[in-house]
Amino acid sequence: MAATALIVTDVQNDFCPGGALAVAGGDEIVGAINARMATADAVVLTQDWHPADHASFADNHAEAATPFSVVAMDYGPQVLWPAHCVIGSHGAAFHPGLHVNRADLVIRKGFRAAIDSYSAFFENDKVTPTGLAGYLRERGITRLQFVGLAHDFCVAWSAIDAARLGFEAEVIEAETRAIDLDGSRERARAEMRAAGVRLT
Ligand SMILES: [Zn+2]
Repeated sequence: MAATALIVTDVQNDFCPGGALAVAGGDEIVGAINARMATADAVVLTQDWHPADHASFADNHAEAATPFSVVAMDYGPQVLWPAHCVIGSHGAAFHPGLHVNRADLVIRKGFRAAIDSYSAFFENDKVTPTGLAGYLRERGITRLQFVGLAHDFCVAWSAIDAARLGFEAEVIEAETRAIDLDGSRERARAEMRAAGVRLT
């Protein structure tokens, strides 16, 4: 049978209530994710991991750059976020309840100051790989299940890239939570379906 990996996206303090870029209910999914880890063939955690001068932080842009506005970067439009998941900070650490020790691999993303990385597979230029696809292929993993935060950004971009790369991709929506910025949740669902991602 085809091996399945569980890709646990960005279950970090800054994306949970009380964090710098909190996703509503972000901490509610931890128990279910832990339970699912126990049955997966492989478990990969992604970790948003930014230097303090990261280009996705509103504070690092010229005057009038407010969080959640969109700017044009040379790789395309970029939402500006409040500073979050700064390398080594408490906010960048995994939620304390997450079974981190179960992970086979932790893949960090967004560590280059000039470019953001929502997807676990590519930076936001959609060209620069993180190396995750090669890792999964070398292990013979063809099926991927996605859970974590946030549904409409990092989970969606990762699942769409996975489908594009030829993996069988499924998003378990009950074990995700969305930021839902200007209807981004429904938009992400439509884009995932169009890319061949299964939403369950
Ligand atoms: Zn980030």
